[in-house]
Amino acid sequence: TVRVRFAPSPTGALHIGGLRTALYNYLFARKSGGVFVLRIEDTDQKRYVAGAEDYIVEALQWAGISPDEGPDLGGAHGPYRQSERRDTYRKYTQHLLDAGQAYYAFDTEAELDQRREAEKAAGNHNFRYDAMTREGMRNSLSLSKVETEQLLAAGTPYVVRLRVDPGHTVHIQDIVRGDVAFQSEEVDDKVLMKADGLPTYHLANVVDDHLMEISHVIRGEEWLPSTALHVLLYRAFGWEKTMPQFAHLPLLLKPTGKGKLSKRDGQQLGIPVFPLDWKTEDAEEKLSGFREAGFLPEATINFLAFLGWNPGTEQEVFSLPQLIEAFDLDRINKSGAQYDFDKARWYNQQYLIASSAQELAPRVQEQYAAHGRSITLEQAGRIADLLKERVHVLPEFYTQGRYFVERVGVTDEKMARKKWKPALRPAFERLRERLAQLDDWQAPAIKAATLAFMEAEELGFGAVLPVLRLAVSGTTNGPDAFAILETVGQEEVLARLSAGYD
Ligand code: GLU
Repeated sequence: TVRVRFAPSPTGALHIGGLRTALYNYLFARKSGGVFVLRIEDTDQKRYVAGAEDYIVEALQWAGISPDEGPDLGGAHGPYRQSERRDTYRKYTQHLLDAGQAYYAFDTEAELDQRREAEKAAGNHNFRYDAMTREGMRNSLSLSKVETEQLLAAGTPYVVRLRVDPGHTVHIQDIVRGDVAFQSEEVDDKVLMKADGLPTYHLANVVDDHLMEISHVIRGEEWLPSTALHVLLYRAFGWEKTMPQFAHLPLLLKPTGKGKLSKRDGQQLGIPVFPLDWKTEDAEEKLSGFREAGFLPEATINFLAFLGWNPGTEQEVFSLPQLIEAFDLDRINKSGAQYDFDKARWYNQQYLIASSAQELAPRVQEQYAAHGRSITLEQAGRIADLLKERVHVLPEFYTQGRYFVERVGVTDEKMARKKWKPALRPAFERLRERLAQLDDWQAPAIKAATLAFMEAEELGFGAVLPVLRLAVSGTTNGPDAFAILETVGQEEVLARLSAGYD
């Protein structure tokens, strides 16, 4: 059976690329009737950020792609937080030591720094551990078994390193990238267990993927170079036969297409690159999210699905069930995916248009409430209906529709100057009187009265409608003028007509 995992490190807000990784894992799991696991990779205590795990869980929930197994969900392969699995890592490190696949290394930080500096001075910035102290190396520093045991007995601090033999090629059959080859010299003797007794990412990741019976590792391209080491680890453990298949997802690129998308792009361009707002405790770092910017989760997911994948047809709008149906690891692109925020807005609009007034009403009501305006669900539903083809994100139901419930005055000054002539005032007084007499305050009746007025006054649409709109809504843009009047309400329209056009 297919078992996939999303394995974030709780080091801050989950960015949109992380949510995409989670989504692809989710889609693949659902598509194959498999299981979607959430594993929290929190062994790097220096980088641990409180609240980050909750954020991850909430973001997945909001997006509608919650896992089947995970820290708070349980499952047969738990615990799902790496910090709760220390004994497991210790045990498996011991296996490697016993098998001669790993060794104790006693280099101090100062010694390593010195070697790093020396390499740099020699023009080599890519420091590789030289394995000098490894047993059996032909040099004076190589430690024999006895020497190692003496150092351990003396309580000398150590790390455990993987023994990587140079001179062979490691091949990875990546589902996205095809055959990727690495030379084993490029993989130095990486640390598996740190001096504090905690595993490194690599060890914990491989041990857990094995024990959690992960069948496919679907993750960002930045992990591709590590995969060579992971393959060597599977070999060292003797787990090569059940090694997962790998699929590395293309990078998310800046809106310009040049370089990797970063959280700074979000801050600089004023666009969200996170699923939800993120605020650190001291509120120093505030990052804006799709949810708060007024995106529907369905639209966000649809947008993300297309950042690195396409169905091979013209269709762009896919519900989550449709995405599951259409999704295929074979159709993931190799090249980077440009983050196009306008496209995200377009997606959201498609979902707004496809939503009913009833579905949107509570969300529209929320937007008004956020500005201290309480409107009924019925009002909210009408506003939703009238504006959904004109807005892209939820807050625009307020910014473009507040005239429905507030007297905002003229917002389009230029149009007002062009269209309003004081000579029109008496005629508009007469229009106001006609409207005041209406018993039926519905768009068709309002329209009929206005048309009768235009005929009697020998005025055309161009002279009447813009002015009527300006007086009632402050702008000549917007949905059907008579629908606006109906929604604003008779009493309020009459009040605005007497106040609004001088
Ligand atoms: N903990 C890693 C991360 O934060 C997981 C990478 C992987 O999926 O192997 O992205």
